[in-house]
Amino acid sequence: MDFTRDQLELIRKRLRERKATTACTVCGHSDWIVSGIHMMSIGDTPGGLVLGGASLPLISLTCKNCGNTLLMNLKVLELERELVKTAEGGTTNG
Ligand SMILES: [Zn+2]
Repeated sequence: MDFTRDQLELIRKRLRERKATTACTVCGHSDWIVSGIHMMSIGDTPGGLVLGGASLPLISLTCKNCGNTLLMNLKVLELERELVKTAEGGTTNG
């Protein structure tokens, strides 16, 4: 799912507010691609998959130069409500 222009601006604004504007730790470039929401399943059972279990809402930032990819937690960024509901049409649990 691609973010709207308004959503991208909201994400960039929040990252600036949190001073999360570092250059890529691998190559030093500072151009990042913000991609869609990734729901990462979390659990304590190795190899186990719990349908409907807890998950973390993440966005990824990918360096345009080398592909280094960072995952940012939307709960910590306090963007879950603004982004996950509109993207998934529902809420997250966990
Ligand atoms: Zn890089």
